Amino acid sequence: MGDLVELPSFKIKGIEHRFIAYNPGSFDTEEFMKSLKKVIEAGINIIGDIPYKQYTFIGIGPGFGGIEHLNNSTVSFDGNRLNIKGSMNRIMNFLGHEYFHNYNVKRIRPYELGPFDYDKENRTNLLWVSEGLTVYYEYLIVKRAGLMNENELFNNLEGNIVAYENDPGRSFQSLSQASYNTWSDGPFGTSPKGPDKAISYYDKGPVIGMILDFTIRNATRNRKSLDDVMRLLYQKYYKKLQRGFTDAEFMEECESVAGISLAREFEYVYTTQDIDYSDYLAYAGLKIDTEVNRENGTKKFAISKLEDMNSLQENILQAWLGKNVR
Ligand SMILES: [Zn+2]
Repeated sequence: MGDLVELPSFKIKGIEHRFIAYNPGSFDTEEFMKSLKKVIEAGINIIGDIPYKQYTFIGIGPGFGGIEHLNNSTVSFDGNRLNIKGSMNRIMNFLGHEYFHNYNVKRIRPYELGPFDYDKENRTNLLWVSEGLTVYYEYLIVKRAGLMNENELFNNLEGNIVAYENDPGRSFQSLSQASYNTWSDGPFGTSPKGPDKAISYYDKGPVIGMILDFTIRNATRNRKSLDDVMRLLYQKYYKKLQRGFTDAEFMEECESVAGISLAREFEYVYTTQDIDYSDYLAYAGLKIDTEVNRENGTKKFAISKLEDMNSLQENILQAWLGKNVR
C-alpha cells in the first residue's frame, strides 16, 4: 500500500524479480535494474537453483540497511546515492547481501535458527556462517557479475582484515563466541559495558570464508570450493533433510568437500589464535603486506598478486575471480 514506484522488473529462467519502492530517489532505473540482474544471476549461479516463484525487493527510501526474507528483502534504499561515483559497488554489495540471504540463513541455516520458540533465546554459534559468509559472497557475486574489479574485491577483504586485526576484542572472543553472544551484546562486536572484549562476525566471518575457500581449492587442486559446500548444505539440509545443520555438521561438510582435515582452519573459528594470512592467500597466488602505524600501533593491510605463480595458483585465482567458473 502507498505511493509506490515499480522499477522495470526482469526475469531469470522465467522467474520474475521486482523492485518496488517508496521514495526511491532519482537515478537511471534501467541501468540500475540491469546491474541488479547481473548480481542476482551471479548469486543463483553459486547455488544452481531458484527456490521461489517470484522475488521482490521492497525499497523504502531514504536510508541504508535491510532485512531478508524467503522471497523478498525489505531494504532502506536511497537511489540518489547511485549518482555518486563509487557508491554503486557499495549499494550492489548491500543488495547482493540481502539477496544471497534467501539462500544463506533463510534456507541454508544453522539448526537453532528455526522453527523458533519465541518464548526462548535462540542462540547459535554459527552466525559467522549466516552473516559472515554472506558478506564474503556479496563481494564474490558483485565481482562475478562484472561490477567490481580485482582491486575493489581486494579492498573489501582488506577492510574486514583491518577491522578485525585492529579490534582489541580479538584476543578475548572467538568467532563462535561472537555469534553466540549476539543475543546479549548485539551484532557488531561491541561489549555493552567496559573494555572492548568482543569482535564482529561481519569482519572475521568473511575472512574465514576466504580462508576456507582457498584451503578447499588448494586441497582439491581447484576442483572444489566453498561454493560446493554451500550447494551441498542447500541440497542436503534444506531440500532433503529440511532442517538446519549443527556446528559439527558444518565442519564435517567442509571437510568432506575438501577431502582433508580442516582442524587448523576451524581453530580460527573456535579460538582467538592469530591468522596466518600469507599461507592461505598464497594458495590463490596472492600476498599480503602489513604496515604498522608507529604512533598508534594500528595496522594496515594490502592484498596483491604474487609476481610468480604456478599453474594451480593461477587457476585458483581465475576461478575465484569468476573468470573461468566451473
Ligand atoms: Zn546480513
